[in-house]
Amino acid sequence: MAGQRKFFVGGNFKMNGSVKMIKSIVDELNKGAFDGSNADIVVAPPAIYLLGVKDSLKQPVEVAAQNCFTESSGAFTGEISPNQLKDADIHWVILGHSERRSLFGDTDKLVADKTKAAIAAGLSVIACIGESLEEREKGVTNQVVERQLEAIAAAIQPDDWKKIVIAYEPVWAIGTGKVATVQQAQDTHADIRKWLAKRISPEAADSIRIIYGGSVNGKNSSELAQAADIDGFLVGGASLKPEFIDICKVKK
Ligand code: PGA
Repeated sequence: MAGQRKFFVGGNFKMNGSVKMIKSIVDELNKGAFDGSNADIVVAPPAIYLLGVKDSLKQPVEVAAQNCFTESSGAFTGEISPNQLKDADIHWVILGHSERRSLFGDTDKLVADKTKAAIAAGLSVIACIGESLEEREKGVTNQVVERQLEAIAAAIQPDDWKKIVIAYEPVWAIGTGKVATVQQAQDTHADIRKWLAKRISPEAADSIRIIYGGSVNGKNSSELAQAADIDGFLVGGASLKPEFIDICKVKK
């Protein structure tokens, strides 16, 4: 039941910001007066700002990395390991974002291996899935998201799903201003929940949070938040703006 699942709002800054801009976002968050009771809030700044943001947040807001690698250490120039995130007291990581998949070659298998490594290191994972416009128009949305989830399911143990928040982000809605309708998002979320019940367990289906991402803003978030199977949001562009505070507070 939705009532048992705590609302979750993630802010994905992507490769945006500067020391100055990120400081002003954190200042806004610190003025946000969150008490942590209505939603879990997690912001994902670029890696170079992670520790600074973590240390200057005064609110019950957590930080997430936007990616990590599969290995714990070694000769992997440019990568960050899940163990290093854990060591730095960063508790969350976003994996499988469509920009990672389409621009940086993160396959279903690599996303699954990263998810496994992140959970093994003690992190929680925002696991992103979603179909392209072409796939939606072909009517294969469910097959695509199930294929992406199946790769993860094959790599981890059923109990590991407790450490996962699923972010359904239709690729055609990301950064386009073209938000999915409440019905489109709700239908896909309900289908994902059915898949979880069958593939993992009915308990997992009831308790795993499925959040929506793709052009969420201060205006459309309240209607989307009403849907039975939408347990929160992963917000890109609007997470850099003051309206992010409204989105964080949308669930009363
Ligand atoms: P958007 O991005 O809110 O800018 O569409 C969402 C995301 O990529 O997580």
